Amino acid sequence: MKLVCIDCGKELSKGEFDYHCTCGGLFDIVHDFREYDADLLKQLFHKRLSERMTPYASGVWRYKELIFPELPDEDIVTKYEGNTGLYSSASIQKYTGVRQVWVKAQSENPSGSFKDNGMTVAVSHGKSLRYKKFTCTSTGNTSSSLAMYASIANADSYVFVPDKDISINKVLQTLAYGAKVFSFGGTYDHGIQFLEKYSSDLGLYVCNSINPFRIEGQKSIIYEAAQYLNWELPDWIIVPGGALSNATALGKGLQDLFTLGFIDKMPRVAIVQAEGASPFHKLVAEEKEELIPEPFPYTRASALNIGHPPSWKKALQTLKGTNGITISVPDEEILDAKAVIDRSGIGCEPASAATIAGLRSLVSQQLIDKEESVLCILTGNMLKDTDVLNEYHFGDSINAAFKNTLQNAGLTLNTIRKFIIDR
Ligand SMILES: *Cc1c(COP(=O)(O)O)cnc(C)c1O
Ligand SMILES: [Zn+2]
Repeated sequence: MKLVCIDCGKELSKGEFDYHCTCGGLFDIVHDFREYDADLLKQLFHKRLSERMTPYASGVWRYKELIFPELPDEDIVTKYEGNTGLYSSASIQKYTGVRQVWVKAQSENPSGSFKDNGMTVAVSHGKSLRYKKFTCTSTGNTSSSLAMYASIANADSYVFVPDKDISINKVLQTLAYGAKVFSFGGTYDHGIQFLEKYSSDLGLYVCNSINPFRIEGQKSIIYEAAQYLNWELPDWIIVPGGALSNATALGKGLQDLFTLGFIDKMPRVAIVQAEGASPFHKLVAEEKEELIPEPFPYTRASALNIGHPPSWKKALQTLKGTNGITISVPDEEILDAKAVIDRSGIGCEPASAATIAGLRSLVSQQLIDKEESVLCILTGNMLKDTDVLNEYHFGDSINAAFKNTLQNAGLTLNTIRKFIIDR
């Protein structure tokens, strides 16, 4: 495997590592799968489903050959991430109107979001380079995940979070894992710019999505979904888009599966952004050459609150390779879709629900046919943002279609009976 600049094609020599090429482009990891026998690999991946206490029990490292084959096993930092549920739900199906909807609950990862799929690989790589200090800037989930793995690896983490419009639950989780947290005035995009400039002076290993090892790890989400579905993927895969690392990884993972012959048909990808932070959707919809950053992004789906997604060029590759599309959805639709997912018993944080809101909208615009099958990636856990839950169910600032509020009935039989018997 090698690191290749996506803009100028420059290759790093073996052992060399950087986030940006001298031309400013990002690096991508390119594998050579020509020697692989797809049937043997399938058998190996299947056999590993019964592993317990080895790194291969992880839903990421199960696919090590496709992710980071060179890494010595003793450098793997894992919490047996991945291995997340794949569900179909009658109520979600009804809400969206399509024949078959699957959801992959990355919310069931150890730190509660899909960031674990990539972070285990980034931190393992950093460890293999003997780093003891890790960093990221984050709207909260990247930092929770990094802080968790850094602690497992006995290393330090230093994370940078905007001082507003992020979820306090995520910040608390990050602090609790022991990270040093720096709060700053500005947006996620300012934090990224700071790290791009100074991380190397500070001796920090950067775990943001500019780190190509995170992307490699996140490919496992679609590998695992494909494996659970017996290597037959639905017609469509839907992901939310913030920094666009997940959309990038999805496209790469699908390409791997297709190249190896694990799947014989390429699904189409839909990337959903929140209306208040949708520079990528605008780029695609308006057929622009360059992404125009949004200086003041705002959405209640705080994990999507990103105005200048670093991976936009890589995400364009996903659209190209899968005949993909983009869409943006208003917060109100995201929060109602979230309530439907929560009620189904699966649950997720707001950003994840952009997928179901997006699907519903794509079906009503007839861009997705009711007869097609769809897989939505649910990215984060329901308890990652209790402020939003609080506002949705108790507050009056959201026009909530599925409010479920407390009943102050006291312990009076006749009143309680009304709720239970006469409902
Ligand atoms: C990070 C994150 C996203 C956005 O993913 P990107 O790779 O940044 O596009 C969506 N949902 C949740 C819960 C996240 O943590
Ligand atoms: Zn370059």
